[in-house]
Amino acid sequence: MRLLLKSLTPEERRVEFPIEINKIKPYLGGREDLELVGPFAGEAWVYKMNATVHLKGVIRGTVKATCGRCLDMFEADVAIRFNQTLRPPESKEAGEEEDLTTGFHDGYAIQVDDIVAAQIGLKIPQVFLCDDECLGLCPSCGKNLNEGPCECSPQAK
Ligand SMILES: [Zn+2]
Ligand SMILES: [Zn+2]
Repeated sequence: MRLLLKSLTPEERRVEFPIEINKIKPYLGGREDLELVGPFAGEAWVYKMNATVHLKGVIRGTVKATCGRCLDMFEADVAIRFNQTLRPPESKEAGEEEDLTTGFHDGYAIQVDDIVAAQIGLKIPQVFLCDDECLGLCPSCGKNLNEGPCECSPQAK
């Protein structure tokens, strides 16, 4: 979704937009434990003050994740919050880099789905657990302990 800067005012405006999975993928950098299922959608509140655009909201979507403990695959809903400021290009100082919360617009329009796709890559959890109480795999025999104790576990006796 493209928003023209001239359409933005100091008054907050709510926008909703889909995010194509292909736009998110390049930001996930080799996360083999994750598969994007989608659909992904964003909801944002946007306003512009003195040529600086403020954008905050949440991205929601579904991923197929591999549990970091038991290695089971499961579907997980993710909700990623973002809060970003986009400054006018002329305010950029020499050597200044964009970061998680500050970027630059081109003085004309912002491509909201592109901006937030990058946020997904940065903020998606590093580890997914199928359950907070997941027991994981036995370090000796490799059995999934969520399915019951294994032979080498002391509880089995
Ligand atoms: Zn698990
Ligand atoms: Zn075992």
